[in-house]
Amino acid sequence: MRILVTGGAGFIGSAVCRHLIRDTVHEVINVDKLTYAGNLASLKAIDNDPRYRFFRADICDAEAIRAIFEETQPDAVMHLAAESHVDRSISGSRAFIETNVLGTHVMLEAARARWNALEGAAKDSFRFLHVSTDEVYGSLGADGLFTETTPYDPSSPYSASKAASDHLAVAWHRTYGLPVVVSNCSNNYGPYHFPEKLIPLVILNALDGKPLPVYGDGSNVRDWLFVEDHARALLTILTTGRLGETYNVGGRNERSNLQVVHTICDTLDRLRPAQKPRRELITFVTDRPGHDHRYAIDATKLETELGWKAQENFDTGLEKTVQWYLDNEWWWGPLRSKVYGGERLGLVEDRKGA
Ligand code: NAD
Repeated sequence: MRILVTGGAGFIGSAVCRHLIRDTVHEVINVDKLTYAGNLASLKAIDNDPRYRFFRADICDAEAIRAIFEETQPDAVMHLAAESHVDRSISGSRAFIETNVLGTHVMLEAARARWNALEGAAKDSFRFLHVSTDEVYGSLGADGLFTETTPYDPSSPYSASKAASDHLAVAWHRTYGLPVVVSNCSNNYGPYHFPEKLIPLVILNALDGKPLPVYGDGSNVRDWLFVEDHARALLTILTTGRLGETYNVGGRNERSNLQVVHTICDTLDRLRPAQKPRRELITFVTDRPGHDHRYAIDATKLETELGWKAQENFDTGLEKTVQWYLDNEWWWGPLRSKVYGGERLGLVEDRKGA
């Protein structure tokens, strides 16, 4: 297949592109605007491959997207481009509505035009995979898991914009028959993760001997999934998922934020010993506004219906991730010094670019 991947220069999108080029025979068309979160260095391992092409474009630009579809004639779309950081959505929500809602609309319409023009087997096999988050389901209490039928109840501007885009994707299936599949995934971690997110931020601050910020009392729980397991899941859902269906993706690895930070500190103390235990750097800071308490995914449908299983558990995946950051300062060094140095984002009094 010739697969058009949006957001392929981001954290998960680049893992998808690397997986498609390294482990399959598919062709990749990467369409990315290269916002602060997009980084072509994450594609260094594959960017010379003749099966890989890159187009710099904004998914909100309907004319540019139409021209790319016309030039490349994709067989399938994996739509990952989004504004993805909850804290940034609190201090500046507009870009989230534009890219996540209006940009998804542009992608659905471009895909619909392409699909309408196809015939026979090519039309039957065309797919649009909309990649989303478990945050659309809101917050869980101490028990229970999100399933595909959990009602939507988003809390942040980010999750509300993703919820809107999920509804658009399903509506394009129901109204126009567009062959859409939706995936909702838990928190990802792994190599090439932009250092504003908890795990890479804590690894890099700990290496620098800087404070390790933990929101509230650190009891918020997330269900962690290694990004390469997610990339495999997305290809499985694209190729074998049932049309109009949603698949939850999760690694069955619930950890409180404080447990995550403790594990990173202990792993670094072992792999790169410092004078004092890194746990002493932990600093509790004001909680995120609207912070969901717990997310946890029931991935039974994906596991039993499509046969996917996570290969990494949190301990093996985190060890690989910490080692990757130790070995790849060429990738994160320029981001820390030039793009984002680790300052606090997303307090409600911030008014930047709302
Ligand atoms: P990311 O922020 O690392 O990457 C997003 C990419 O999209 C960047 O390369 C950026 O340049 C690009 N982009 C942003 N706006 C664009 C626009 N208008 N036009 C074209 N490109 C644009 O995000 P990520 O963590 O890789 O997430 C990818 C997708 O997966 C998102 O849809 C996100 O909602 C979803 N998701 C992420 C997680 C997670 O834990 N990171 C979990 C579940 C779902």
